[in-house]
Amino acid sequence: MRAVVFERFGEPAEVREVADPRPAEHGVVVRVEATGLCRSDWHAWQGHDPDITLPHVPGHELAGVVEAVGARVADWRPGDRVTVPFVCACGTCPACAAGDQQVCERQTQPGFTHWGSFAEYVALDHADVNLVAVPDGMTSATAASLGCRFATAFRAVVRQGRVAAGEWVAVHGCGGVGLSAVMIAAAAGARVVAVDVSPRALELARKFGAAECFDAGRAQDTAAAVRELTGGGAHLSLDALGSPATCAASVDGLRRRGRHVQVGLLPSATGTTPVPMARVIALELEVLGSHGMAAHTYPPMLELVRAGTLRPDLLVTSTLPLAAAPDALAALGDAPGAGVTVIEPWG
Ligand SMILES: [Zn+2]
Ligand SMILES: [Zn+2]
Repeated sequence: MRAVVFERFGEPAEVREVADPRPAEHGVVVRVEATGLCRSDWHAWQGHDPDITLPHVPGHELAGVVEAVGARVADWRPGDRVTVPFVCACGTCPACAAGDQQVCERQTQPGFTHWGSFAEYVALDHADVNLVAVPDGMTSATAASLGCRFATAFRAVVRQGRVAAGEWVAVHGCGGVGLSAVMIAAAAGARVVAVDVSPRALELARKFGAAECFDAGRAQDTAAAVRELTGGGAHLSLDALGSPATCAASVDGLRRRGRHVQVGLLPSATGTTPVPMARVIALELEVLGSHGMAAHTYPPMLELVRAGTLRPDLLVTSTLPLAAAPDALAALGDAPGAGVTVIEPWG
């Protein structure tokens, strides 16, 4: 098969022929129809993730068609259209037994713990635990975004963030996950303040329902601006980018008893991230993490998509062939990008 391969962290990746994957007993191989380009892929390529061994194929938010099935898979057949959460769970550890597959103790992640979906085929483990059927009528490009940014944003806003109608929700960073969060929070009846340095990202945030858009490049103190726009601070705030500055601004922009949800990855290469804990105590803030979303919790989100309340299809702003993936991956460092780029290996 053809795949995007890199031999060294940070050096150009290339498209080349590699061996086709084979399914594990409990796993499947999926023919990749679409795979999202995500900032986590850039972190993987930069060497920020200790799970990765070289050479490596990135890519973790995908949709496609089941091609081959392991002997112990009960629920899936070749030809099934599927997507998958980027956290693939084992199904049997204590976290999985409690229904928290998104923090599985023995999780695998395509594009991190093994070769990912910037390829014509990808192997996925524990298919009966992790695969999600793509609803009829949903394109693979749209379904790919469900595996990482959209589902991650959904869990961050709805489950971890416990969004309520009428609340102010601040979203720091309006790339793919941030724009998804804007759309999901607005659909829940919240008033959303979108924060980014990119005019294009803010324009999209407005389109997806943000009530206020704030250009973080124009102010010294983003948190103060959020507090002013929201009449005292957001009820719920997300760092959807993942940086020490956006994390601190998110916490500082909350009102009393507000909830901060960390969604953007804070890779270890940047060291430990300072959080303004004095404010957390004084205002009784909650600081929460959000890490993907378990496959068995997809149905309520898919129902909102089916009803047209949520429109992940609108987030996909460009599609590229596999050959363009290495340059697009490299470009993510300077410009996290507005909207969602999807790679179509067979396109
Ligand atoms: Zn991702
Ligand atoms: Zn597990």
